[in-house]
Amino acid sequence: MKSDARVVVIGGGVVGASVLYHLTKAGWKDALLIERGELTCGSTWHAAGGMHTLNGDPNVARLQQYTINLYKELEKISGQSCGLHMPGGIMLAGTRERFDWLKMAKARGRYLGMELELISADEAARVFPIIDKRHFVGALLDPIEGHVDPYGVTHAYAKAAQIGGAQVVRHTRVTDLKARGDGSWDVITEAGNVHAEHVVNAGGLWAREVGRMVGLELPILAMQHQYLITEDLPALKGQKELLTCIDFEGEIYTRQERGGVLLGTYERAGVPWSPLQTPWDFTQSLLPEDLDRIAPSLEVGFQHFPALGEVGIRKVVNGPFTFAPDGNPLVGPVRGLRNFWVACGVMAGFSQGGGVGLALAQWMVEGDPGADVWAMDVARYGDWTTLAYTNAKVRENYSRRFRIRFPNEELTAARPLRTTPIYERLQAEHAVFGDYCGLEHPLWFAPSAAQATEDITFHRSNAHPQVAAECQAVREAVGLLEISNYGKFEVTGPGTEEWLSYVMANRVPKVGRIALTPMLNERGKLIGDFTLCRLSAQRVFLICTYAAESYYRRWFERHPPPPAVTVRPCAMEYVGLSVAGPRSRALLQGLVREDLSSAAFPFLSFRPLDVGMIPALVGRISFTGDLGYEIWVTTEYQRALYDLLVGAGAEQGLKLFGGRALNTMRIEKSFGTWAREYRPIYGPYEAGLWRFVDLKKGEFIGRAAALEERDSGGTLCLVTFTVDASDADASGDEPIWHDGKVVGWVTSGAYGHSVRQSLALGYVPAALTNETSGFEIEIIGERRKALRHPAALFDPDGTKMRA
Ligand SMILES: Cc1cc2nc3c(=O)[nH]c(=O)nc-3n(C[C@H](O)[C@H](O)[C@H](O)COP(=O)(O)OP(=O)(O)OC[C@H]3O[C@@H](n4cnc5c(N)ncnc54)[C@H](O)[C@@H]3O)c2cc1C
Repeated sequence: MKSDARVVVIGGGVVGASVLYHLTKAGWKDALLIERGELTCGSTWHAAGGMHTLNGDPNVARLQQYTINLYKELEKISGQSCGLHMPGGIMLAGTRERFDWLKMAKARGRYLGMELELISADEAARVFPIIDKRHFVGALLDPIEGHVDPYGVTHAYAKAAQIGGAQVVRHTRVTDLKARGDGSWDVITEAGNVHAEHVVNAGGLWAREVGRMVGLELPILAMQHQYLITEDLPALKGQKELLTCIDFEGEIYTRQERGGVLLGTYERAGVPWSPLQTPWDFTQSLLPEDLDRIAPSLEVGFQHFPALGEVGIRKVVNGPFTFAPDGNPLVGPVRGLRNFWVACGVMAGFSQGGGVGLALAQWMVEGDPGADVWAMDVARYGDWTTLAYTNAKVRENYSRRFRIRFPNEELTAARPLRTTPIYERLQAEHAVFGDYCGLEHPLWFAPSAAQATEDITFHRSNAHPQVAAECQAVREAVGLLEISNYGKFEVTGPGTEEWLSYVMANRVPKVGRIALTPMLNERGKLIGDFTLCRLSAQRVFLICTYAAESYYRRWFERHPPPPAVTVRPCAMEYVGLSVAGPRSRALLQGLVREDLSSAAFPFLSFRPLDVGMIPALVGRISFTGDLGYEIWVTTEYQRALYDLLVGAGAEQGLKLFGGRALNTMRIEKSFGTWAREYRPIYGPYEAGLWRFVDLKKGEFIGRAAALEERDSGGTLCLVTFTVDASDADASGDEPIWHDGKVVGWVTSGAYGHSVRQSLALGYVPAALTNETSGFEIEIIGERRKALRHPAALFDPDGTKMRA
């Protein structure tokens, strides 16, 4: 084994091998993969090898498409067969709701170029003859599905990488990792040390243990997973290969395996494997079979696929593989560690491995993953993902693998975990809570405790009238919203302004003022949207998206401030309440000594004020688009502040409102939000944030690219629609049609209670910027007329928030 390498990849499963191949392809030929056993000896070797393109996140779906399309190229380069079978796939719906879900999946597939086809139960039985069609209402056909040979794929990646110059060392365990002062690593192995500039943790079942070598507790857990292979089915003899299949009601997937059928299941009572420590002596091993555990699914399976009950079981496989809490991979550089990368938690290695390898290799070589990988970025998790939290969430995710996730559905595992001081107060007001980064926050308020649960549905739910009342109170009187779930940073010290001016696209505001600003990467794409609140010459309070806190911190580490400047995350140190609506000034004026008139405290002011006895930071800003204030206090004051505002608000008609009402009101104002309208695939010009980019202030990250975007006009354009919808609104990722063609996608949608119309925000090609008509938005399989509006539907001139 060589003693120096540019990069060491730890782990020779399908993911590590893919990373190695993509690194060599991207030009890093001095790459070394170290594997403790044989290639594939973790979870890869016993996988069923199934692959499919659908994913809840369209950007991950794109990477899955890439993976599946890669196999032929890989076979050519390596000379190694991947055992590629592409019979196509069928997804069976046993209920109307599931069929609706399939309609939505088909719609979402449209702008990804997927050729999906909805068919009836009769047609399903024709193309997939082993089902009893009485159990199904319809199905979705996907021609790009199939399965591969896990051994073949992994060796094909490794061979292709070796042809590209990489080395693979087997039977050598990495036992420790030591960081050097220059950011490089000593990789300690059983066969000596390797000095590497970069390290990739692709340790699969042992990724957690490899993480612990550098003090990292990665949120991943292995689950036991079983499939069985039947004896040969007479019905399959001489026929072309069966489609791969997902039967959602049975929570079953199947594919043909020689003359029989491979049937696997994500059972509800899933069992974690080695929840605390993965044993190092588990090599090319399986777990004892436990058919009793999957008996309920098998029972359904034998009803739905009667032919399977007529033959015996040839083999049962029970093996572990890893998941992150949301089921998506963990990829990217790790904050706080230089040149340390992860590619783990990949639960669908044969659909995702190629895309993960490609994204990570581009990130390492080019400094950017080259695609929107937010949904699988390791930085989407923070300190709240303890071992026990991960355990609860992974078990929940596993048990729900084939269940419908409704757009208004809140998952229940690991809750409540984080609460703010007013949690019980809000509970007493019948708040229905959502979970955001493990933190409870109110979504809406029910009229009574008995009604404080939401029906999960694709249509408007029982929350609809309550949210309408909350919006009305805000628009006509005053509403009170808990805003603790925003991210916050405090930047202090001499040089604060210069550094912020370099990392943010807008000008740093004057003392006492607020400025909204995008943060751009070098390619001029949006990687954040911040509110900068200037408290003094050397102290700026930043408000941002909490879920992206680690992501931002990683970026700030890459573009560090001078030593005299401190950047301190303080999300849970400052909790907040917002009052919004035409009477919010009267409410707050009664509680502070300072003059809150527009002349004295205009829109976008920010100051420390005492609210009653409570020291607070108060900003005149509201995400609802009304006159409004955001009030930040350290945690111990929040209850007193809440009581004070609620008490004083009674005579102003104050009503509590939640995240649902906020969402509809911000869409009425055409205000975008991170991870929806603002993502690293859009530029500020495209996203309508141009007025927050200051090209005159001097150099900042992304300036040249932003300038280019402005001159070219960008390729996309964020627009606002009213939609001719009846009882279901867009929720995100629906296709936008224009003149009979799919031209774009929805980023957010909701019913706008104040404007009494169904609304959507979405991206269309810049060439359509001036079109207003001819648009349609596909909601639950139906194309609804949509009218594009050049400005926000509510208060387009912004006079209300400036009042
Ligand atoms: C029963 C079953 C069925 C499945 N079916 C499918 C399917 O149909 N489709 C699909 O896409 N996925 C399927 N999977 C999941 C699939 O197996 C995983 O997504 C995939 O194997 C993950 O690959 P990996 O490279 O991340 O991990 P692993 O395969 O676990 O590879 C990690 C490698 O790292 C090595 N390693 C770890 N630590 C060290 C160290 N310190 N030093 C040196 N080497 C180290 C290990 O020995 C191992 O070889 C299935 C899994 C199971 C269990």
